[in-house]
Amino acid sequence: MKLLIMGPPGAGKGTQAKILSSKFNLIHLSTGDILRSEISKGSSTGIEAQSYMNAGNLVPDKVLLAMMETTLENFKENGLILDGFPRTIPQAEGLSAIFESLNQKIDYVINIYVNEDVLINRLVERAEKSGRADDTKEVIVNRQKVYQELTAPLIKFYNNEIINIDGDGSIKKVTSRIFNIIK
Ligand code: AMP
Repeated sequence: MKLLIMGPPGAGKGTQAKILSSKFNLIHLSTGDILRSEISKGSSTGIEAQSYMNAGNLVPDKVLLAMMETTLENFKENGLILDGFPRTIPQAEGLSAIFESLNQKIDYVINIYVNEDVLINRLVERAEKSGRADDTKEVIVNRQKVYQELTAPLIKFYNNEIINIDGDGSIKKVTSRIFNIIK
């Protein structure tokens, strides 16, 4: 099974992706985690990505597409959940082309939606615990703006396949909303 999970920063997609990956035995591919690990390794991808990430901006599409093409090829035999990719229309088009060349398809596209005020509060709370460089208030607000401009258009792009999930409420509640649909 190949699954995409989308939603604005703070919607809980990483948390739900982890739960889904253990329930359905899927490899959880979080592009944010992969990029953070490239930064800590000091790789050329990490060096290129770092300044964009610290400012809450998107890393260029060509960097993501090159990285994901290799990753998806490596994991083509596995069930996958993609968390944080695609994040732009060109990435979604690139992903379709990659899957087509691998003779694969996306089974489900999950979109978690949450009101923006709730999101900003959640992220400010998370910032107090995480120490992530992109968790300052200014960057948090910028990440919401970037989401609205570049990522939200994907909802229309995946219009026919999308499963909208209300992301307000406890982790358990949101998980059970997802499990009601994906069995
Ligand atoms: P995340 O952990 O998913 O919130 O991602 C953290 C940061 O990594 C984002 O704010 C972007 O700077 C970068 N990033 C992650 N995934 C992508 C992507 N698909 N396209 C561009 N940048 C990304």
